[in-house]
Amino acid sequence: MYDWLIVGAGFAGSVLAERIANERRQSVLVVDRRPHIAGNAYDRYDDAGVLMHQYGPHIFHTNSDAIVDYLSRFTEWRPYEHRVLARIDDKLVPIPINRTTLNALYDLDLKTDEEADAFLQSRAEPVEEIRTSEDVVVSKVGRELYEKFFRGYTRKQWGLDPSELDKSVTARVPTRTNTDDRYFTDTHQIMPKHGYTRMFERMLAHPNIKIMLDADFRDVRETTAFRRLIYTGPIDEYFEFRFGKLPYRSLRFEHKSLAQETFQPVATVNYPMTEAYTRITEYKHLTGQTSPNTTITYEYPSATGDPYYPVPRPENQELYRRYQALAIAEENVHFVGRLATYRYYNMDQVVGQALAEFRRIQENVPAWTAP
Ligand code: FAD
Repeated sequence: MYDWLIVGAGFAGSVLAERIANERRQSVLVVDRRPHIAGNAYDRYDDAGVLMHQYGPHIFHTNSDAIVDYLSRFTEWRPYEHRVLARIDDKLVPIPINRTTLNALYDLDLKTDEEADAFLQSRAEPVEEIRTSEDVVVSKVGRELYEKFFRGYTRKQWGLDPSELDKSVTARVPTRTNTDDRYFTDTHQIMPKHGYTRMFERMLAHPNIKIMLDADFRDVRETTAFRRLIYTGPIDEYFEFRFGKLPYRSLRFEHKSLAQETFQPVATVNYPMTEAYTRITEYKHLTGQTSPNTTITYEYPSATGDPYYPVPRPENQELYRRYQALAIAEENVHFVGRLATYRYYNMDQVVGQALAEFRRIQENVPAWTAP
């Protein structure tokens, strides 16, 4: 009999396993149907000896000191600021759009924020009521930049035209008038020094924690006794798709090792206008690894495959709410993480969600096992 069964060894499941084992001194069985821990953040050394991310590039960034303090128990860090270039026509230009982008694309010499702002305003088209993602971007930067940077990328990424997508998808498109070419502006921009998987190994290294891989909850629940459940898998699957499937957008990753030191000037290059893939990432920029080889990943958006991005449409949120009502009524089960709450969360947000859930557990769930 385990005190807790935790389904999923990603951030949500692993943070809760660590907290329960260390703070409550209770026994935990963590199961994952994949052959490894770390969920989507899983990284590994490939045959070329390069540390790469199996499920696409994962860059850690947060404004929360508390989350960095917590994770620092399990890893050291290396500073890393992510930079992305977009291939537009025959040029590689910074994205998010900034003053350098405008100068490079239009052969301009804009010197100040004000000049860049005036340029964007001269391009922006007034839109009476902003409803769709297209409206958001066109009203901010005009149709030409919209076509170059957003339209094709969004169509590839979501399989939908921006005019069919809710304004929330691009509502916070950062467009800068300065020359800051960092992708993120968070106060902490760091990568685990020895990789994510190593950090997870240290998080889960506790005598109260057992890990079972290649094991599906559906099978384990038949054979294993436990008192309480933490479920970080897809919420619709837990309820056997009673109301239908929650729609997700997926990705197909094509990993390639090359016998050359570097492939591209920054970690990620986006292809908004051409190619079937959305972007290429080269991991050595993220990890700082030196090696005669390099590994890159092409990302092809897809309608089928593993669930990655909840499709942001109001009717899908409505469907999720119906599952959420069932989840609330389910006794002795906690639904945590991106799949169980049908939300796109960054890693730091999932860590924050899991730590908050642990505080609720401490307040509400009696410690039945003697410490
Ligand atoms: P997951 O990591 O998905 O873990 C859930 C685990 O549960 C999985 O391992 C799964 O196998 C297991 N599971 C599910 N159902 C079952 C079952 N029935 N039985 C057994 N096991 C089960 N975030 C950032 O902060 N920065 C980034 O740069 C970033 N890049 C991303 C890039 C891509 C392409 C994607 C898709 C996501 C990215 N994210 C990024 C988000 C990040 O991946 C998530 O925040 C994080 O993985 C969420 O952790 P989780 O534990 O909720 O889910």
